[in-house]
Amino acid sequence: MIKNYILIGPPGSGKGTQAKKLTEQFHLLHLSTGSIFRQLAQHDNNLKELITSGNLVPDTQVVDLISKYIRNNIITVKKTGILLDGFPRTLTQAKNMSKIFVMEGITINVVYIMTLNYDESINRLLGRRVCTMCGANYKQSNNIIKCTYCNNILSKRSDDQVNIIKNRFQIYEKQTKPLIEYYDNQSNIDVIYINGSKDENDVFNQITKHL
Ligand code: ADP
Ligand code: ZN
Repeated sequence: MIKNYILIGPPGSGKGTQAKKLTEQFHLLHLSTGSIFRQLAQHDNNLKELITSGNLVPDTQVVDLISKYIRNNIITVKKTGILLDGFPRTLTQAKNMSKIFVMEGITINVVYIMTLNYDESINRLLGRRVCTMCGANYKQSNNIIKCTYCNNILSKRSDDQVNIIKNRFQIYEKQTKPLIEYYDNQSNIDVIYINGSKDENDVFNQITKHL
């Protein structure tokens, strides 16, 4: 049976890293709102401002983007399943998404909650380097300069700075965490906790046990 998944977790909990591995190995469609907005921000100063300060893009704009994306990719979604990475992030987004999914005849089967505490989030993100082409993440301490997938020079993400990470973490606690209860109350959706502080392969194994 084709299944659809959501990855929820604070900044640095490994959503992007795991989503990349999961979608490559299991041929799911990967939708990362973060990377879509980062690309759009190259030509949109308002968006750039929001992202670099760690604030959320307004719900209406996010829901609009998702609804278009789902409609444009509905055949693939139904064929392979989708992995939502970084969306929904607020209750309004979740409720609107549910309407869109009902309309398109698709359902969410599993919601993974990746856990990570504040100190770990800060430590990980301050030492992170990213590939802006494919979204791969690297540890600065590994001294890798070019992406091993696409040979692109790695860089630091502009929102990976202490005060901004703090803001992103607080927004997660306040606006995104209520989604856990929202999905917990839906009997047809499995909510699974994943210990995001473990290493990449361990986290991957925790997730794939429930795919
Ligand atoms: P994080 O590491 O903080 O989880 P993401 O790459 O998922 O980062 O997102 C980066 C930024 O893109 C967010 O801080 C926010 O500004 C914007 N963004 C991504 N997804 C959403 C969303 N679903 N709703 C609102 N803003 C979003
Ligand atoms: Zn790359």
